[in-house]
Amino acid sequence: MDFDAHTPDQVPGSTDTDTELDETVRLARDLIRMDTTNYGGGTSKGETVAAEYVAAYLRGLGLEPELIDSEPGRTSVIARVAGRDSSRGALVVHGHLDVVPADPRNWTVDPFGGVIADGMLWGRGAVDMKNMDAMILTAVADILRSGERPARDLILAFFADEENGGVLGSHYLVDTRPDLFAGATEAISEVGGYSITLGGKRAYLVQTGEKALLWVKLIARGPAAHGSRVVRDNAITRLAEAVAAVGRQDWPIRLTNTTTALLDEVARILGVDSQKVGPDELALATGTASGFIQASLRTTTNPTVLTAGYKHNVVPDTAEALVDIRSLPGEEDAVLAAVQELVGPDIEIEVMHRDVGLENDFSGPLIDAVISTLATHDPGAEVLPYLLSAGTDNKALSKLGITGYGFAPLLLPPELDFPAMFHGVDERVPLDALVFGRRVLTDLLRTY
Ligand SMILES: [Zn+2]
Repeated sequence: MDFDAHTPDQVPGSTDTDTELDETVRLARDLIRMDTTNYGGGTSKGETVAAEYVAAYLRGLGLEPELIDSEPGRTSVIARVAGRDSSRGALVVHGHLDVVPADPRNWTVDPFGGVIADGMLWGRGAVDMKNMDAMILTAVADILRSGERPARDLILAFFADEENGGVLGSHYLVDTRPDLFAGATEAISEVGGYSITLGGKRAYLVQTGEKALLWVKLIARGPAAHGSRVVRDNAITRLAEAVAAVGRQDWPIRLTNTTTALLDEVARILGVDSQKVGPDELALATGTASGFIQASLRTTTNPTVLTAGYKHNVVPDTAEALVDIRSLPGEEDAVLAAVQELVGPDIEIEVMHRDVGLENDFSGPLIDAVISTLATHDPGAEVLPYLLSAGTDNKALSKLGITGYGFAPLLLPPELDFPAMFHGVDERVPLDALVFGRRVLTDLLRTY
């Protein structure tokens, strides 16, 4: 399918013949079929096609979206929706349009094919986060098409470049166009709101905080030499030792308010004593969410890229490694110092990108509205706070004093390991979960 054929006055989502599919599914599928791969380091396939598609849909709702390019091809879209009561703080409802790369050899289906099979929509972005992009669009459509207004002003934002720390997306917009977010006090977006199964009971995890991120480069330098010589300070050998030390480091558990509250709730639901069962054990009991939750209990330092050498018989003078460090909120500088200690003084550490951690209380009117909306749509389910081990565009919005949460509501079957599919292979989301999310979001935006 050729998406370049879309012109602004076509109504996206209506070109499909599969009219039996929910509109949310059709929009998410269209977006998946637009390859918006973000390779990092400022390189991407470009988000413009997806941004124009979103903008055309918003125009079809009578809104006036603004398209902003940080660089050619790196397009974000922002639109305001007037609420019934503009004196309340505006809510930013945001998604990102880019996705991480997908190697088709590892996938069961074409990652950019938008395949529908087994009652699910498959493809890169089905989980992160073209699903939520489509849910936002159709939820707002449901409200406006019925002649209603959201309770408060909404700022709909679809950012470029989230998968590279938001440099050319949310951070660019917050830094250069803060006017776009005037009056905003809170935000909701991705990586929260999905259901897990705890002791046979369904529970929704609402993201109320994010770890900080430090993307660093380790650099070892030594003499360039012939590969046959005795080279005791070989840069690659020294870098390898540093990488092993950082990668193997077992960071201690440190509970924050959010993780303490979560583990107490998990213990209550499972009927165990949180004083007797350790944090890791409790995290493991969360099943599919345990990967996210265990990582929220401690700092993590994962080597992710190695670069050194150019010829089998030449010792290079430099060796470099990229390390993805995620510290608990507020511990960034202490962790950087600890990493320098681990690798020793001869390894240079260059901070390539850093961003703050966030932690909000699991209370207040927005949390109350989230809990009561979920209670309407899934009575009896639990709603729990959690600290995201990764980051979202909420970090950039926090620079404007906007309090961000992760709430992309999805009712998921217990056997689906949803958290594992973020940046994983065979991303897929049940079609009925998308419909559920559309309805929950519609109600939330209509009433909050
Ligand atoms: Zn994402």
